[in-house]
Amino acid sequence: KDGMDDDETPVRWFRVNTIKTDPETLFKKHKFFSDLQPVSAIGDIISTGVIYEDPFIKHLYGIHPREKLTSSEAYLKGEVIIQDRASCFPAAILFDDKNDQHSEVIDATAAPGNKTTHLASYVDKLDGVVYAFERDDRRVKVLKTMCETATGKKRKDLIHPTHSDFTAISAADFPQITGLIVDPSCSGSGIFGRAVEDASSAEQTQEDIDTERLNKLAGFQFKIVKHALSFPKAHKVVYSTCSIHPHENERVVVDLLRDPDIQKQGWKLAKRDIVVPEWPRRGWEQEFSTLCDADLEKCKEMAGACVRFVPKEDGGIGFFAACFVRDPQA
Ligand code: SAM
Repeated sequence: KDGMDDDETPVRWFRVNTIKTDPETLFKKHKFFSDLQPVSAIGDIISTGVIYEDPFIKHLYGIHPREKLTSSEAYLKGEVIIQDRASCFPAAILFDDKNDQHSEVIDATAAPGNKTTHLASYVDKLDGVVYAFERDDRRVKVLKTMCETATGKKRKDLIHPTHSDFTAISAADFPQITGLIVDPSCSGSGIFGRAVEDASSAEQTQEDIDTERLNKLAGFQFKIVKHALSFPKAHKVVYSTCSIHPHENERVVVDLLRDPDIQKQGWKLAKRDIVVPEWPRRGWEQEFSTLCDADLEKCKEMAGACVRFVPKEDGGIGFFAACFVRDPQA
């Protein structure tokens, strides 16, 4: 593919930052975009000079990785944000249900801020606010810069980036939060160049997996999502990782659904029809078998609350997301 390196993304994805502009205005204004020829499939992005509009995520486009987007005026002004396609799913899932009007949301683990600024693009239309937490003191600076670039002076109160450990935040202090996304640290096994990047099934990866490390990560992921589920008015929570391992993905979800506190709070997995239903690759059904007495239909329904992405094959990084919901009136 045009001399592309192995660790290079097959597609450079960017989203039009609707806090600052809209696709029509942007594409008219900048020659960089108006010169590109539309193509109808990812597979057609084999050279520079073309652009693909993603059918799954609004305002998301794919171009050739060699296209000079990062030196374009639109990128430097924050009118477009480079973000992998899969990484756009959590915010899109949080706002996928037409009945959801989350005007106050939390990004629990925010830096560098791709998902935070994506959330902000939805919340902007509702005149709401995004609270973004990041515990790492170096990464929080990157987060703040990214938020400033994405919002500009006009909407500088749209995002509140905070240097803090999310698990130390009191849920009672945020009584109006209805939606959260949690994208915690993970093994990163879905990112190119990592040891198991091309593995696409459990069987292939088992030998390479450092189970102890994965289980440790899973323990941390469980704890942080459990905290997100404790916010009093929350009725939708999206959990995601850039891992391909079920240990950090479906198994964390299953452990959360088994937890008595979480059951008492009324949390369930969402129905597929509010989790970008057209996306074909869903969670691994077999991982839910202990929860649904091996009832295949039920397993399928649970796996439908999750989306998966195979590295490269699905146009970018390997990724996982799951959506929890509960009755807003409960
Ligand atoms: N969501 C980000 C994005 O799309 O740009 C990427 C998040 S990255 C996978 C995970 C981040 O969570 C790291 O920056 C890490 O420092 C932060 N983190 C880990 N544990 C945390 C905690 N307990 N509270 C807040 N941030 C945390």
